[in-house]
Amino acid sequence: MKLRCLGFFFLCSLCAPVVNAFSLDREAFTFTSYDLNVRVEPELRRLGVRGKISLRNDSSAPQKVAVLQISSSLDWRSIKAGGKQLQFVSQPYSSDIDHTGALSEAVVTLPEAVLPKGTVDLEIAYEGVIVLDATRLTRIGTPESTARSTDWDQISTNFTAMRGAGYVAWYPIATEDASLEDGQSLAEVLGRWKTREAGSRMHFQIAETGEGEPPQILIGGALCTVTSIEQMDLAHHVVTDCAPLPLGPIVPTLVIASYSILERPAVTVRYLHGHDTAATVYADAAETAAPLITEWFGTLRKKTETTELADPNSPPAETGAFLLTPLTSTDPKLAGLVAAHQLAHAAFSSPRPWINEGLAHFAQALYLERQSGRQSALDYMGLHRSAFSVAESEKGKQKTASRSEDEANRSLINTYDEQLYRSKAMCVWWMLRDMLGDQALKKALASYRTEEDKQPSYMPRLIQAQSQRDLEWFFDDWVYRDRGLPDFRVASAFARKTLPEGYMLTITVDNLGAAGAEVPITVKFTGGEVTKRLVVHGQSNTVIRVEVPKPPEEIVVNDGSVPESDTTNNVFKIEGNAAK
Ligand SMILES: [Zn+2]
Repeated sequence: MKLRCLGFFFLCSLCAPVVNAFSLDREAFTFTSYDLNVRVEPELRRLGVRGKISLRNDSSAPQKVAVLQISSSLDWRSIKAGGKQLQFVSQPYSSDIDHTGALSEAVVTLPEAVLPKGTVDLEIAYEGVIVLDATRLTRIGTPESTARSTDWDQISTNFTAMRGAGYVAWYPIATEDASLEDGQSLAEVLGRWKTREAGSRMHFQIAETGEGEPPQILIGGALCTVTSIEQMDLAHHVVTDCAPLPLGPIVPTLVIASYSILERPAVTVRYLHGHDTAATVYADAAETAAPLITEWFGTLRKKTETTELADPNSPPAETGAFLLTPLTSTDPKLAGLVAAHQLAHAAFSSPRPWINEGLAHFAQALYLERQSGRQSALDYMGLHRSAFSVAESEKGKQKTASRSEDEANRSLINTYDEQLYRSKAMCVWWMLRDMLGDQALKKALASYRTEEDKQPSYMPRLIQAQSQRDLEWFFDDWVYRDRGLPDFRVASAFARKTLPEGYMLTITVDNLGAAGAEVPITVKFTGGEVTKRLVVHGQSNTVIRVEVPKPPEEIVVNDGSVPESDTTNNVFKIEGNAAK
């Protein structure tokens, strides 16, 4: 009997959170404001946080409970409303949104149900350690050393850096679970969080106590000021207040380290001991790239900030114009390529990833073109293209009933897939530039106002306004829907001798793919070539006439500026007799 009771209680205590978990709407509340005092003790790898958060019910139902999540290496200490302790259940919640692969979730019973659009203010306290943890990556098979260089977030004596949502939840969030094993699950959960939190406000006061000289304390993208500094014999205590940061494309990242600083008009470079050369190369490259970027995207709204990561093998991380990157390379071309992206973020900002990131990658292609010519830019885009064209061709083979839904979900305006909103979007901007010309596209970009971007059609309308042509088909195929990629081939070509000298070539170009594009077509002959551009809509063909002075020998459709699913059928040899 006693055993059965124990068994019953054991089962029920397991069941209770599960039952709760099913009825919880974790994404009901938006955290509209954070006001947090953060204490960091690097020697103990410890973090202690006290502060206030405001939650707004953005669901359509009244909410009696709220979910608050922090990294699983942190523990909830207290949650109050109006000075009164609230009841909460703390439970582990599996999710790859945190580097530990789990969150400490507090399920809080609110004093009263919060109606839709209603708000509640909470006073919170939590603490714990943040150590380097590669669990979520190693458990999906990432080699240990790569995993540790990739998930570098940690508190330690010589270098502390924490990226926040998506890496380590050092401030509270509320999200459904995300799994790295499940395709785009993490990107989608994080994308939804960013969309929900766009417009939220974060204010941090950071206090750090440690040994030796006081380090610098930064919150990426925010202006931080030291408000007090105490230096004892062997220890120090620094307090820094960081100006409130609007979320949106910026995700606050905390960095504490001893940096040397290099200031230039367009960039601040913070570098670690011994890396003066790489820092100078980067700063010089940024200054060289800056005029091209302002010419395209307007004056810099702020300086870019480049801050060194301690592990030279770590991949860079960006938030707005704040970049964390290893500074070991002394190659000016590579530095300029990175700086062009960062400068574009400093000059131009949009809450829409295909615009924000697409343009920053487009800026890199423009930089390469300015440095080494058009082919260099096309080669660079080719590298990006190989990443997303595999995914596109796989998708093209699936003829499922939900094709139309899939086209909408994967469209540039809706996707959370980085390969699409970065690499594919870059190619879309390049195609628009080829179609409109530099001046028209620059004018369209100059007329963009972040605060007026309320509809997905806002940017397409600005672009359309600068062109005499109807571009609706282009936006339909590439932006509003994901119709995959075009596949061009020359179906036929007939040459006829014209008087007095020359040949008229009639070419039919097929597009076997579903997305239309304007594509360059080049006719080659002995001693020269002629290039024309023509629009070929999806699953359609277009006829074009090209005059050449000598017998045409070869036709090449697409110079690589239009992403295509199959480029093996792009060259057409003209039979000797037909042409002469
Ligand atoms: Zn970027």
